Amino acid sequence: MEESYKKLIDGNRVFAMSKKFEDPEYFKKLSLGQRPEYLWIGCSDSRVPANEVTNTESGQIFVHRNIANLVVNTDMNMLSVLEYAVKVLKVKHIIVCGHYGCGGVHAAFSNELHGFVDNWLVNIKNVYHKYKKDLDVIADNEKKIDRLTEFNVIEQVRNLAKTTIVQQEWKERELHVHGWVYGINSGLITDLCVIHDGQDDIEQIFRYNI
Ligand SMILES: [Zn+2]
Repeated sequence: MEESYKKLIDGNRVFAMSKKFEDPEYFKKLSLGQRPEYLWIGCSDSRVPANEVTNTESGQIFVHRNIANLVVNTDMNMLSVLEYAVKVLKVKHIIVCGHYGCGGVHAAFSNELHGFVDNWLVNIKNVYHKYKKDLDVIADNEKKIDRLTEFNVIEQVRNLAKTTIVQQEWKERELHVHGWVYGINSGLITDLCVIHDGQDDIEQIFRYNI
């Protein structure tokens, strides 16, 4: 336990030294402020770190993560992050990134009790019921869960589009919203092509291509 904790501090020293070696001004520049172009809403899963999977650096992505990358319009944490990213940082893109093999989606799919988290996962159960017809025709359970993962991302993008923060911003400027799924076993991101252009009718601005 002691050792694994120390490993992080040691790792930090290596990180700081190597960055300074590559660019002596690296931290000085970062300390001047942030101007990220992207807001990432992803899963808390330790295998899906936003910067690492997109090969980006500190300062490039503003990040919010929770179990199963949900956008719940009563979640003050998410709404605060969203408002800051959109109104203050003026990000150009918001990405909801789910991932195959998501423990949260698996848990929601099962009928077992997991504790407090089930209250959170009910949002995914609602997605399941909405797409029940499409999901029930898939015989293989893993494939079914993969599809549910994709539908979950689509629904979270839709929830995002319905927030007053995004709706207001669309009246003033261009803001793109995307739905992605990351494959833990491939390292590759799939764009679900949930197209958004911020027009008036929410239902019309979605075009599914999955
Ligand atoms: Zn997950």
